[in-house]
Amino acid sequence: MTVESLEPALASHYEPLIDGEFRSFSAETFPAVDAATGAQLATITRGGAADVDAAVAAARAAFPKWAATRPEERSLLLHRLADWIEANAERLAAIDTMDIGRTIFETPLDHRIAVGQYRFFASAAVTHDGWNHPVTGGWAIAKREPIGVVGQIIPWNVPAIMTAFKLAPALAAGNTVVLKPDENASLSTLELCAKLAELFPPGVVNVVPGFGDEAGAALTAHPDVDKLAFTGSAEVGRLVAHAGAERLVPVSLELGGKSPNIVFPDIEDLDRVIDNATFAATYCNGQSCLAGTRLFVHDDLYDDFLGKLRASFEGVRVGAPLDPATRLGCLVSEKQGRRVLDYIASGRADSSLVTGGGRAAVAGSEHGWFIEPTVFETENSSRIAQEEIFGPVLSVIRWKDYDALIDQANDVEYGLAAGVYTTNLKNAMRTADRLHAGSVWVNQYFNLVDGSPFGGYKGSGLGREYCKETLDMYTQLKSIVLAEELPPP
Ligand code: NAD
Repeated sequence: MTVESLEPALASHYEPLIDGEFRSFSAETFPAVDAATGAQLATITRGGAADVDAAVAAARAAFPKWAATRPEERSLLLHRLADWIEANAERLAAIDTMDIGRTIFETPLDHRIAVGQYRFFASAAVTHDGWNHPVTGGWAIAKREPIGVVGQIIPWNVPAIMTAFKLAPALAAGNTVVLKPDENASLSTLELCAKLAELFPPGVVNVVPGFGDEAGAALTAHPDVDKLAFTGSAEVGRLVAHAGAERLVPVSLELGGKSPNIVFPDIEDLDRVIDNATFAATYCNGQSCLAGTRLFVHDDLYDDFLGKLRASFEGVRVGAPLDPATRLGCLVSEKQGRRVLDYIASGRADSSLVTGGGRAAVAGSEHGWFIEPTVFETENSSRIAQEEIFGPVLSVIRWKDYDALIDQANDVEYGLAAGVYTTNLKNAMRTADRLHAGSVWVNQYFNLVDGSPFGGYKGSGLGREYCKETLDMYTQLKSIVLAEELPPP
């Protein structure tokens, strides 16, 4: 496969999907740019308040009929959408790779995970029932109902996964949706829109591309949106939560992470643990909320481990994102590149650089912000160990005392994920119990299993996605208590 053969043809311009049609109320556009080369890939309508108003109105009008469809009908449409993604995954993956700079080695997996989501919720919706309870002379019923019009805002790091995480449960549960993709990563979601328009009744799914403080803010503040769902930075998450609180609508949030990856001294296969730790910090170019960015290594094996970890990081191949041999592409934008370099400068000031620490040059991709896979030895209190960097930068921390380790692992504002490497099952389970994290992986990292809850403790968010309980977030329970006849006076 050559790099050229991977470059898919794109439309020259993409418009919002509103009420089953491609149209825009804004005359302004913005470019989608190849993150590595800077080439313009397409233009996109810069959605604004008028587009959001029209999309919300369409979703409102479509809601009663869609809410009344049988779960089996909704399930079928989600399966058809999944079929289409499966058939087009290679092309969609290449689009993501150009749009955001992630490697063509990784992006096909995003679409497989997305397919898994549509299929999982297609199935889960069919069995997501309320209950009925026998009472004397009547019935007590708890009935699940969709919430209404859902406003959803997603980030740029894994656009296909994020689109699926949001659309699949909301639609499966019978809601109508207005989705705003990220301005840095709209293309694969906009490509999906043609299929969404073909499959779903007008107004059921609406997609308005644009900027956060324009389309995003308009959607968040819209008085006719019944629920908000957001993934992105903690800063914007707080704005979304405030907007939800103002109007008393439910809000689910998936925010950042600064996940501990803990190595016990009893591990047997050092090399495989190192492979895992490298992958945990460099997958997605480090731009994953789940990334294992704080590596706690026990003192007994620390020195040996660090030497091999350094070699492992130096072996990660940085290169053009469309080259199948590349394992680390470029960051999504100059803004992210500068942000990561600022963190690296902070690490140089108070920590010890093990490897990396600079911008890498890739021939033919001079526009891209490639960052060398970087390792620092540091303390848990340092800025690089406390704040989410969103780049391939790993903080390694030495540990000796178990209780102090647990305190440090939990001593961070986030609580999204954690990794534990040990051959001792009791160790693994006790540690998993004590970690303040929504997901704990043992002897592995990033193993997303359809149906496993995904979401954060503490500052990492509110609610759980990826699992059948997500349907609870997208429905409300109505209690109906019914008597066979009027009670006597
Ligand atoms: P961001 O939170 O600014 O953007 C995420 C989404 O929110 C985008 O669609 C954006 O358009 C929208 N948005 C921005 N401002 C908004 C507003 N005022 N109202 C409504 N919507 C708004 O994230 P970013 O600037 O792209 O990234 C900054 C940092 O956030 C990253 O470095 C990383 O630490 C974190 N982040 C986390 C995730 C995650 O998956 N948890 C994803 C992306 C970024």
